[in-house]
Amino acid sequence: MAYLEHILYLDYNSTTPIDSRVLDAILPFLKDNFANPSSTHHFGQSINEKVKQAREQIANFINAEPNELIFTSGATEAINIAIKGVSESYSNKGKHIITVSTEHKAVLDTSKDLERKGFEVTYLPVQPTGLINLTELQKAIRPDTVLVSVMYVNNETGVIQPIKEISKLAHEKGALFMTDATQAVGKIEIDVVDLGIDLLCFSGHKMYAPKGIGVLYLRNKTKLTPQMHGGGHEQGLRSGTLNVPGIIALAKACEIASEEMALNQRNISALRDKLETELLKLPNTALNGDSENKIYNTTNICFKGQDANVLIGRMKNIAVSNGSACSSAVVEPSHVLKAMGLSDDEAFASLRFSLGKYNSIEDIETVISKIKELTQPNFKYA
Ligand SMILES: *Cc1c(COP(=O)(O)O)cnc(C)c1O
Repeated sequence: MAYLEHILYLDYNSTTPIDSRVLDAILPFLKDNFANPSSTHHFGQSINEKVKQAREQIANFINAEPNELIFTSGATEAINIAIKGVSESYSNKGKHIITVSTEHKAVLDTSKDLERKGFEVTYLPVQPTGLINLTELQKAIRPDTVLVSVMYVNNETGVIQPIKEISKLAHEKGALFMTDATQAVGKIEIDVVDLGIDLLCFSGHKMYAPKGIGVLYLRNKTKLTPQMHGGGHEQGLRSGTLNVPGIIALAKACEIASEEMALNQRNISALRDKLETELLKLPNTALNGDSENKIYNTTNICFKGQDANVLIGRMKNIAVSNGSACSSAVVEPSHVLKAMGLSDDEAFASLRFSLGKYNSIEDIETVISKIKELTQPNFKYA
């Protein structure tokens, strides 16, 4: 990858570079194939046909029907449309929703907004591993609970929640189940039918497609009050001219992911395991999050006594993260690590390494030796 030559990138959970095959696939749609797929002329209809094919491909990728997908600008928009739309349309059943304290801010802040509008929200705590307690979830679901929303893979720790069990508990008590699967789609196989998912959100730029395209999967017959009004696109559920290049890109990214997922998993997990094992050999280190139920590209490590921001500043050409990128303008400890029981100091001392398909063993060796150098007790800054 030419554009990754000067940077050692271990921050794939915040965004990924665009796969060059994805870029090739979309260029015609940024040039000659620019027509609006809603236009009735031949030009528009030929683009509409391409969008239709892309929609089928993306739907197949998660075992959904094409008419169950709503294209959005990203996961944040999909999450907003989903939580607000479902709460509104089922408010005659009840005004209670359940989510988890370690969710992405897109879910937490949308839930906070609902609280201001008279809904009640239960924020389930997590165990020190980052996993929720299923018995606690079961107890929290009430007759007036309309939605249970639990993320699939945590963006900071990589912890994977038991989605199938959770959806079963929600359905047993008549609630809908939603999952923010932004860190899962493209990395592991997702079958919305098998997992019993009613609503699922994800984003193109976390899986080698560009920024500005996302998906809300909405299981057939799930009612959703539109939050975006206008020309009636996407079955009236999300008005606005379709992002054709984004949709084409996402379809290509899904095609590539389905062909190469097993290979990526093998390669990336070997690199991640090496990185994790070597870093945990250093004194005063600890792994954040469950070591078993975890996505293969992520590790989150606490370097006790260190300041993650200082470490990041000293690793000039190495990109890693100290928490979620979204709140990094504000200096607060990660809400995810805090919810897992870490102190402020421990959270501030933690780094997230998230790997991707363009990483090499040399990258990993460089990072290991750099971190060793920076964290040794008698290290003197030049
Ligand atoms: C990145 C991310 C989001 C937000 O996605 P956008 O594309 O920025 O809207 C939501 N949830 C998770 C888990 C993420 O990793």
